[in-house]
Amino acid sequence: MRNQPRKTLAVIGAGPKGIAIAVKAKVLEEFGFPVDRVVLIEKNNVAAHWSGEFGYTNGEMKLGTSPEKDVVFPLETDVGDPVLNQRVRQRLLQFTWISFLVDTAQYSDWVDRGRPAPCHLFWADYLRWVSVQLGPQISIVTGHVIEADLNSQGNQWELKLKDSKPSIFADRLMLTGPGQTRLNFIRDTSKTLPPQCYDLESFWSAIKNKTLNPVGKLAVIGAGENAASALLALSQYAVNMPVDVISPKGFISTRAESFYENQIYSQPDRNRWMTLDPKDRIDFIERTDLGVFSVHAMSLLNEQARHQIIPGRVTDLTTTLQGLEIQIEYAGQKTQRQYDHVVIASGFDQTATLKKLLSPRALRRVELALGEELTTSNLMASIERDLSVKNVTPSLHLPMLAGLSQGPGFANLSCLGRLSDRVVIPAEKIVSQSVRIVEQAL
Ligand SMILES: Cc1cc2nc3c(=O)[nH]c(=O)nc-3n(C[C@H](O)[C@H](O)[C@H](O)COP(=O)(O)OP(=O)(O)OC[C@H]3O[C@@H](n4cnc5c(N)ncnc54)[C@H](O)[C@@H]3O)c2cc1C
Repeated sequence: MRNQPRKTLAVIGAGPKGIAIAVKAKVLEEFGFPVDRVVLIEKNNVAAHWSGEFGYTNGEMKLGTSPEKDVVFPLETDVGDPVLNQRVRQRLLQFTWISFLVDTAQYSDWVDRGRPAPCHLFWADYLRWVSVQLGPQISIVTGHVIEADLNSQGNQWELKLKDSKPSIFADRLMLTGPGQTRLNFIRDTSKTLPPQCYDLESFWSAIKNKTLNPVGKLAVIGAGENAASALLALSQYAVNMPVDVISPKGFISTRAESFYENQIYSQPDRNRWMTLDPKDRIDFIERTDLGVFSVHAMSLLNEQARHQIIPGRVTDLTTTLQGLEIQIEYAGQKTQRQYDHVVIASGFDQTATLKKLLSPRALRRVELALGEELTTSNLMASIERDLSVKNVTPSLHLPMLAGLSQGPGFANLSCLGRLSDRVVIPAEKIVSQSVRIVEQAL
């Protein structure tokens, strides 16, 4: 069926996005579609960031998105033939959250409990349940990618692994994961953070290992879901500790979660996302995703009297004899505040993560394609329909930065099935192959 050598799509990370790609590639391959060989490369283990073992959560926090927005949602894979579509979707149904509950004898209880949001660890259990069904088509390689370089001909990615493990070569590369915590307000980010200052990985380890001394005053920088998760964890860990929340807008608000907002995440094309004014797209993402607390987190935090909101953007963080000093700017005014502990929950910096990962010549290749320096806004503006960066060869897929250009759900968990449709195989190839599969079946 295939005349050309098979290509490889390497995905760094076996979290929800990597698993969603793997499921789609597996199922399409089962049906005979000419998909690339998919290799997931994972430095820890499947769903590491959700289990509580490797930072980002303690595993007990509630999943914000509905679990029915699982790795195949919204189950609208279109291979260009109605009969095949139905068969492919039936097969994909076997990887849903509901199938997991049925298979593990938890379905009836979950429904009777009112379909509660699962905690992150339960979500990790689901992802791991999916991952054990991926063979033989998909391989998950244990390895820590330390550099994404180009091969000697410059037409493939060479992914260099830690501990002198052999490199992995791929024709396409997709990055997943939130990336490193945004630290651009700290003057010297090459230095490690002071001991009482935590990013989103070290905070959760400190809570888990009880190394955060619950004495003194603490500031959480940021007013989004990560800040909310940190506040919830602190409400159990350090019951009496006063906590300031440094919020750029001077308030915290809940996420807009109506049908009209949710469906834009699931159906960006139907809602003509790409034709909306970029200013309105940014406004939408800010109301519904970034810089807002979930209704659930807010209702729990409402009951606490020890939080104070401090308006402003942190512009510097230094260590003093008294502890940590942060400089805050708001409405043209600069103020300083002292804290004993600071949690930096101001979001993630995908661009810094990418720059760190790319070899100098791979970075030059990307910047040549962009026609300018690699910045977050340049990258976000050049993400194409298949979630890759325009004109970059070999292809580089960055779904975490695809929200603005392609649809807000591609950056998170809102439409993993659609994300994998876009990445796994180009539409024109799949339709022509459908015609062949249908003809062979007649
Ligand atoms: C605590 C928390 C809760 C969240 N809750 C929600 C939610 O409810 N709904 C929602 O839509 N979004 C949520 N998000 C946003 C979330 O980041 C993304 O939606 C999610 O991470 C997407 O999954 P992923 O597969 O891209 O990343 P991840 O699940 O983060 O997986 C990335 C994987 O890559 C591995 N890895 C990283 N670097 C390397 C490397 N160099 N080499 C090899 N492996 C590597 C990691 O070990 C990890 O397993 C949440 C984020 C956090 C941090």
